[in-house]
Amino acid sequence: MKKKFGRTTVLQDLNFSVGRGERVTLIGPSGSGKTTILRLLMTLERLTGGYIWVDGDPLTHDRRDGRRVELKPRQVVQVRKRIGMVFQQFNLFPNMSVLQNIVEAPVHVLGQSQDEASENALSLLDRVGLRHRADAHPTELSGGQQQRVAIARALAMDPEILLLDEVTSALDPELVGDVLRVLEEVAASTDITMLIVTHEMQFAKDVSQRVMMFDGGKILEEGPPAQIFSDPHHERTQKFLEAVV
Ligand code: ATP
Repeated sequence: MKKKFGRTTVLQDLNFSVGRGERVTLIGPSGSGKTTILRLLMTLERLTGGYIWVDGDPLTHDRRDGRRVELKPRQVVQVRKRIGMVFQQFNLFPNMSVLQNIVEAPVHVLGQSQDEASENALSLLDRVGLRHRADAHPTELSGGQQQRVAIARALAMDPEILLLDEVTSALDPELVGDVLRVLEEVAASTDITMLIVTHEMQFAKDVSQRVMMFDGGKILEEGPPAQIFSDPHHERTQKFLEAVV
């Protein structure tokens, strides 16, 4: 895949695949293109060239008679249903209660009944430790609580793929642990494929099977966390890790 913003090339002929149920952490310096990859997968950005497939289904463009063909919005919605994303800034709907935030998409996108969606939402709130705040509004919650609601909201769509974009970066340090614990539980108890952008290296080590180090829109190196973190091949990776740990 290739992505340019104007004349600036952000991702250059990037080629990688992620296995079903695999958890991959993307690391690298600011501006190396990590967020752009997640946004492309979520179809929040358009590819400049190349293709993305989800389990054999084209996510962005199809190829017919050797030509690139844009997917119809209806097709994009179908693929997008299978992908959940949690953002650095939570992005909850401020005018809705916690419960409504979680129920909204399952009802309107998946066609679940209110009762079914609410029941599922309450059990997800249990799982993230926030059932008692179901009627609160996002502004009444701490950042860490809002992020746990955002995780519950993503899980309510029962995604095959979960994209986590620096989900603890906007949090006060004392709130980070609760959010990471929730994600560790999700990783341990589901087979959701995860792409994780994070600077929390211990978390990356604990939950992911593979780490990809990006630099300048390319994969500089990749490998199991134990190898990348303790014996990186590239000096740039070593310098980056020294700076963030
Ligand atoms: P960070 O760790 O700081 O979030 P990142 O590795 O996630 O960095 P991206 O956010 O993907 O990097 O950005 C990659 C490059 O693309 C940066 O140079 C950024 O300025 C540029 N970029 C991202 N979004 C846009 C946009 N909408 N318009 C123009 N340039 C953009």
